[in-house]
Amino acid sequence: MASKQNIDDIITQVKRRLPQYLESLGHHINGNNMTKCPLPTHADKNPSFSVGGVGGREGTWYCHGCQRGGDIFVLANLRENLPYRGQEFLTETLPYFTTMFGIPYDPDQIDMSKEQKFIHSAHKAYRKATQLLKITPAVREYAYKLGWTDDTLHAFHIGTVNSYEDFLQRLKSDGYTENFLRTIRIAGNTRASKPLKEQYVYRMFSSTRMIIPVRNINGHVVGFSARDMTNESDLRYINTYTWEGFQKREMLFNLNGAVHCDTAYIMEGATDVITAYEHGIRNAIGVLTSTLSKDHFETLNSHFTKTILTLDGEAGAAKHAQKAMASLQNPRAILLPQDSDPDSYLREHGAEAFLDLEELTEMAHEIRIDDYRQSREKILMWLEQIQAQNPVEHDYYLRHLSEASGAAIDTLRQGLWAMQTRQATKTLKALLRQATDQQIHLNLNLSYSSKS
Ligand SMILES: [Zn+2]
Repeated sequence: MASKQNIDDIITQVKRRLPQYLESLGHHINGNNMTKCPLPTHADKNPSFSVGGVGGREGTWYCHGCQRGGDIFVLANLRENLPYRGQEFLTETLPYFTTMFGIPYDPDQIDMSKEQKFIHSAHKAYRKATQLLKITPAVREYAYKLGWTDDTLHAFHIGTVNSYEDFLQRLKSDGYTENFLRTIRIAGNTRASKPLKEQYVYRMFSSTRMIIPVRNINGHVVGFSARDMTNESDLRYINTYTWEGFQKREMLFNLNGAVHCDTAYIMEGATDVITAYEHGIRNAIGVLTSTLSKDHFETLNSHFTKTILTLDGEAGAAKHAQKAMASLQNPRAILLPQDSDPDSYLREHGAEAFLDLEELTEMAHEIRIDDYRQSREKILMWLEQIQAQNPVEHDYYLRHLSEASGAAIDTLRQGLWAMQTRQATKTLKALLRQATDQQIHLNLNLSYSSKS
């Protein structure tokens, strides 16, 4: 049996092969120990990727463009989604490199705990379950309606099953017991006396549902999100309930795909995220639960330097976002027009318009939503910025400001009107400076009245 010392030796040996790995990717290292960045998110024109001896540590790298660095394992995770921690690191990532470099290593000789063995088997069962999903004509027709191509269906391994019974039978014939499958939420129960979550599992694996695999941060399928294709079910989505390998903090769709980026777009569900992917936005994340939890905030804060919430135009969305804005580091929000969500907005207007929306709302979100309520100066600043926009778009921005600040849209509209003259602006400023939260509506009205 390999001792711990041996594992450390193997890891060190692999780390030293960083230059060899880069060469194998076709990235030649120049005399200054620089090469073009191999990360897919960086179209590097001049070599900005520094190799080896960064900070005096052999086997490290740093990209001056991406402003991130690490060792060979971090690079392989960013580039190829190879797990860089946990049991999968020992059973997938290390063998990948030891084979590449001809370093002797046998993962079976590594001692696994009972829990690690369980998770390992669970991942294998989920992989098998994912392989059983098939793209049927119904799935294809439904996907096309959403604007998704076959490539996207394949990229996310989306499909459906013939029936729950058939699906279960195939897994059982692969050696999995129903009891084990129930533990990891793949098997359920039809009996009405059983807990709802078991009945939901049964309903999830149906030919009438489009089944979307949900992966953890290391890329392992650990759950499913099943969408009703008939539009007749009382349950539009059924998501896998948490289990040992699918914890609440990791219940985010496409976290594994977005984790390579500094910025993440937070969307409501898997559908929004896949539509965003279809439009070239690869760093969108879907919240599978009804709200973002403390666990989610921790996950998002530890992986992204900027988090952009996409809020649908429904009333209360801004209020809902307040907690999120207060809990996230460097948060931004895109407020979508009334009655649209990222999915519908992207399909109607395309990615460019969506990203424009981000740019236009960026100025507003330099001020946090929760600050609006505290500062009349900021509302005024906002009004000034809106005034500078194309008048055709004024109403659109006023509605955003109204939602974010809680001020009535009519009041804001009148305030903006009042700002059309310099005198009115002066008056408004003075009034706003004195105003209390309760008085703001009144004062804005007064300033408008005094102008006319
Ligand atoms: Zn780079």
